[in-house]
Order: sequence, then structure tokens, then C-alpha cells
Amino acid sequence: MDQPSPSLMTPLERLPGVGTARARRLEPLGIVTVRDALVHFPRDYRDFSGAHALDALVEGEHASVAGTVADVRQRTTAHGRSMLTVLVEGQGGSMRGVWFNMPFMAKKFAAGMKVVFAGMPKRAGRAWEMTHPEVRFCASGEDTTQGEFLPIYDLTDGARQSDVRLAAQAALAHAGDILEESFPEEWLAAKNLMSIREAMREVHFPTSVDTMEAAKRRFIYQELLMLQVALRLHRARQQGRKAAAPLVVDARLDGRIRARLPFSLTPDQDAVIAEIAADIAKPEPMNRLLQGDVGSGKTVVAVYAMLAAVGCGHQAALMAPTELLARQHFTTLETLLSGQRANVELLVGGQTQAQRRAALERIAAGESQIVIGTQALVSGAVPFKSLGMVVIDEQHRFGVVQRATLQEGQTEPHVLVMTATPIPRTIAHAVYGDLDQSTIRQGPAGRQPVRTYRVLPGQEDSWWEHFRVKLREGRQGYVVVPAVDDSKRGLATVASAFEELANGPLEAFRLSLVHGRLKTAEKQAIMDDFRAGKLDVLVCTSVIEVGIDVPNATVMTILDAESFGLSQLHQLRGRVARGAVAGICGAVTPAGDAPHPRIDAFVASTDGFALAEQDFALRGPGELVGAKQSGKLDLYLADLIKHPDLVAEARRDALDLLARDPALADPALARLRKVVLDRWEESLGLGHVG
Ligand code: ADP
Ligand code: MG
Repeated sequence: MDQPSPSLMTPLERLPGVGTARARRLEPLGIVTVRDALVHFPRDYRDFSGAHALDALVEGEHASVAGTVADVRQRTTAHGRSMLTVLVEGQGGSMRGVWFNMPFMAKKFAAGMKVVFAGMPKRAGRAWEMTHPEVRFCASGEDTTQGEFLPIYDLTDGARQSDVRLAAQAALAHAGDILEESFPEEWLAAKNLMSIREAMREVHFPTSVDTMEAAKRRFIYQELLMLQVALRLHRARQQGRKAAAPLVVDARLDGRIRARLPFSLTPDQDAVIAEIAADIAKPEPMNRLLQGDVGSGKTVVAVYAMLAAVGCGHQAALMAPTELLARQHFTTLETLLSGQRANVELLVGGQTQAQRRAALERIAAGESQIVIGTQALVSGAVPFKSLGMVVIDEQHRFGVVQRATLQEGQTEPHVLVMTATPIPRTIAHAVYGDLDQSTIRQGPAGRQPVRTYRVLPGQEDSWWEHFRVKLREGRQGYVVVPAVDDSKRGLATVASAFEELANGPLEAFRLSLVHGRLKTAEKQAIMDDFRAGKLDVLVCTSVIEVGIDVPNATVMTILDAESFGLSQLHQLRGRVARGAVAGICGAVTPAGDAPHPRIDAFVASTDGFALAEQDFALRGPGELVGAKQSGKLDLYLADLIKHPDLVAEARRDALDLLARDPALADPALARLRKVVLDRWEESLGLGHVG
């Protein structure tokens, strides 16, 4: 096979050393071309150098030690678990590697083998021990002290670390020298940034920790700077071209709106509303993100903003992520506005063509002032007569992209985006750099934190007794279950959990079950019954995750809690933090009593902001910002928390740059400009820049 000429578009399959079988395995990861392999950055690195001497280890500090296998022993513990111990003799002492319930590992070791163990050393009497260390098996002639600093990649089923490593290696050999630099020479020098060619090599196969950090720093800086430039170009274009109807809320209108609300507003709600009122009084569109923990009272702010638009003679739209939530908002607004002239329209699935057409006609004629629905149904082709305000609720998976397309309508409304999954400030800065931000920190007074427990195996009975006591007191409860069917093996399913509870611990109560596969009307009927107190317990999947508000429901059991993400757990728990009575939540974890970082964090804190930070640390932020929309952004974002100063620096540099050269017309910036446009043109509509 001829060596193809160097190109980023070369299929990996054609490179020596990759081969068809390996290329197939990489496809599910989206790695097909040389470019794909290069931008699939390692998630982490492992030091397999074996460089640490056994007599100089520090407990709890990651280490890699080389040695020769002296003994392999397999036994069963008192708790019936299998336990494998591999003793390695090395420089300055010995180390035991220990594996539980992984009997197959035993076959991999034999006395006399040279290996490197990498992991956390801990003292075990006079010896050292590592639990489940990573192992590098060395060829007999191999120099185990030779630098081996290996990348660890994200994988999907089927692909191996070595597949991705080899692909990256082959891709670098093929095209490492044709990568084009985006930054002018002087910029690199002034900012002390590694060149693209060196950085690409170092990010995959670092020569040292320092060069790896320098390579990552360059990519993070580049990513942030370009995102900032793109967002600011977008914003400038938006503000330059588009005007919005100024909505002036005078004292009379303010009084009228407040008179509609069932309670007086909290200081934080008042402050946010003041910020919104100042924004929308201007003839340019508001673009504001409202963050506030679950139950902090964002809905009423949205209602205020919408009524402000209506009071000024315009229409308002409210988009919810789920139909259940859209219907709940509809009910809330109908109740608030009963006896008013304002008409509220609901746009959801399951309406007939004729119903939808009639609704659209009322909207076009301006008879309906407030339109509520799911995002799919409200955005797009709804012919508003005069849309003044758009509220997007519970957007915790909101990429840059979706936000931009929202504004492509014929009219230019003010936009309020609300999220209950608080985003750490550094991340919010990077991702929502073009949005103004408001925050509700303090919820309504008298709100009590949810008492949260981890329910270990063997404690279920007493937990259910606790649950029943609350129900007997007249409270309602949720039992949350991860999966709808058996596709995720071993996890509780709604149907089987329902059966078990209805014939067991919750026999004496009125139960129903609700999950995503039910017809909307059925789901709705059950929710209505629950809200009306005709049911005691709702057994459900995470359909109740966002926004559902039933104040009398104060107890929750989450089954197989470890299969939910931390932010999701917090969202779920938010359902029982609605009223003045303290909510109670039990997280049931069947998998032994081992510590579980996510569940432990969940039990220990009810501060959504703190939990969001930890969620980032434990999982990476992909879920939150919508990794799909943001491309590889999640990778860099994972590091942002550790680099707040870099975020600030990139923002500053982007602003300086655009202040000097708003259209990036300097020929030295041609490459930078091209990369920004290629990357963001479509999603941010930057086509007309320059
Ligand atoms: P979220 O921010 O999660 O959307 P909601 O807007 O649903 O929270 O509010 C949570 C609960 O708090 C609701 O039951 C709501 O009626 C109540 N609430 C909101 N604001 C106030 C307030 N100022 N005083 C009393 N209760 C309030
Ligand atoms: Mg809400």
C-alpha cells in the first residue's frame, strides 16, 4: 500500500500500523480520520515509569513502582469475596498489589515477571500495598525505568486504550508536521504558548508532566479565546443589527403584576426582577441567564417577565423541556390569570391538526398573549403577532448553539434562560460569555433543607417504616427508579419496583406509576391525581426530575441511586423541598457498604452550587453543557476549574483583540479568523462578519 500524502482527512485505515480491524473499533468513538484521532485528547495520564523507589513512597501520593513478581496468591475472604495478592520485589523494598472479586487477574501474573504497578500506595504493616493498581507488563529485556507516561483515552465498547494510542501515534507520524499554527509567532512568544505541532505531540505523548501541562494550557487557552471571540462577534452582530421592543414596567404595571402573585417576593427575586426590568426597558434584546437552585423560586420571575411583556402589549412564550412541565406551567398561569383578559395557549404533542391550527391562528391574531409548550413546539414556525419575551425553563443542557438559533425568528424578543443546575462561575463565564447573569441565592424563607440518608443493604426495612410514618401523617412521596425496562440489567425497573412495593412495604397506600413511555394523557391524569392528593405515592422514572411542584410531597426514595449523576440526584431531591415541611430523601444503594463518592457527596450537602462543582470534578461537565453541541469543549472545560486565571486571561485577550481589530482583518490573524469562523459559523451565524 502506498503511503498517502499527509492530510488531516486521510482515513486512519490507510495508515501503516492502524489496519482495518482497529479502524472499525475506533469508528464508534467518531475516530475515522487523522484529524479525529488528533483531537481525541486523552482524558488523563498515568505515570508508568516505574521510577518511584519503594523506600521513598509517600502514602496517598500516586506512584509507579517497578519490580519482579515474587508471589501470586488467591483466597476467599470472610465475606466471601475473592482476593488476589501479587507480591512484587523492587528497588528498596516490596509492594503488594491487591484485587477483590477479579479472579481472572490471577492468570495474568507469574513469578519472575517484570511489572510496573501504578496507583495509590498505602501502608499495610511494614509493607506497602496498592488496591487495584494499574499494571504495565514489561517485556523481559525491557528497561522498566524508561519514561512511560501513557495517555488514557475515553473509550466506548469494543475499543481498547492501545487502539486509540496507536491511532494517535500513526496520525502524528502522518500529519504532525503539517499542522498549521493559528497564533502569530509574537503572540505565542508573548503568552508563552507552546506551538501547535509541539503541543499536539505533547498532549498525546508527553515527555514530562511539565510539557504535558504546557500543551494542555495552550489548547485550553486557544479554545477559550476562540470561543470568546466567536461569542463576542456574535453579540456585536446581534446588537448591531437587531432591535427589540422596549418594555417599560412603570409603577402601575409593576403593582398590577404583583397583585396577581400568590406571595410576596423574596429579596433575591426582587433583585433579579429589577435587573430584568432594566434590561427590557432598552430597545435592544435582553440576553440573560437566571441561575437558581432547585426550588429557589424561578418560575415566578418568569411569570413576572412574561406579564411585563403582555402589559406592554406584546406576547410572551415559555418553553419547557418536558410536556409535563409545560402543562404544569400552563396550570400555574391559568390560575394566576383567572378573570384577566390575558389568554394562555398551550402547545404540546397529542393535539390534533385542527386544534393546533386554531391555536396558531389565535397566536397570529394576537388573541393569545402567552404561549407555553415544549421547546420543539414553540420554537420554529409559530407565527407570533408580536413576540416580546421568550423564557426558556430548566435549560441545564444548553449549549452555545441552541441559544443562538433561538434568535432567528422574525421578531427579536427579549430572552430569559433559566437553569436549576447551577454552573460553576468559571464555566458559566466560558460557555455563557455572551449572556448576562442573574442568580437567586436564597430561596423563600422557611424553606428547610432535605434530610438525606444513604440506605445501605439491610437497612431497607427501617427506611420503609420511616417512609410509611410520613405517609400516615398525610404526606405524599415519590419512589424514583432508574430504568423503564430491563435493558439496563440489574437495575430496578418501574414495573417490578411497583409490584414489590404495592405487595410489600407500601401495601396500605394508594400507589401509581408513571414513566416516559406512558401516553401523555395517561401521564397527565396520574400527575393530576397525585397533585389532588388522590394518590399517596408515585413510583416513577426521572420524568419528575425537572420542575414538578407538588408541595405536599415531602418524602422520596431513590432506588439504585448510584446509577444517577450527582446533579440529577440533586434535581430529584428538589421535588421534596417545595413546602415549609422538611423533606426527607433516602438513597438506596444495593452494592455493598463501600464508600461511594457521588452518593456520599449527595448525602453530605444540599448546596446545589457545591454539588455542581463536585459533579464536574467527578464526571466532567459534558452532561451539563451538552457535549454534543460544544464539540470537544467538554474536554477543556474539565480543566477550567483548575485554571480560573487562564479563563480570565483568555477573556481579556479576546476583548483586547477585538477592541484593536473588530473584524480580525490583520493578515497575521487570517488563520485564527478562519478557525473561529469554520468552527462557529454555522451555529452562531457568523457568516457576515468582516
Ligand atoms: P424553581 O426555581 O425550582 O423553578 P419554583 O419556581 O417552582 O422553583 O418554586 C418552588 C416553590 O416555591 C413553589 O411551590 C413556589 O410556589 C414557591 N415560592 C416561590 N417563590 C416564593 C415566595 N417568594 N414566597 C413563598 N413561596 C414561594
Ligand atoms: Mg422550575
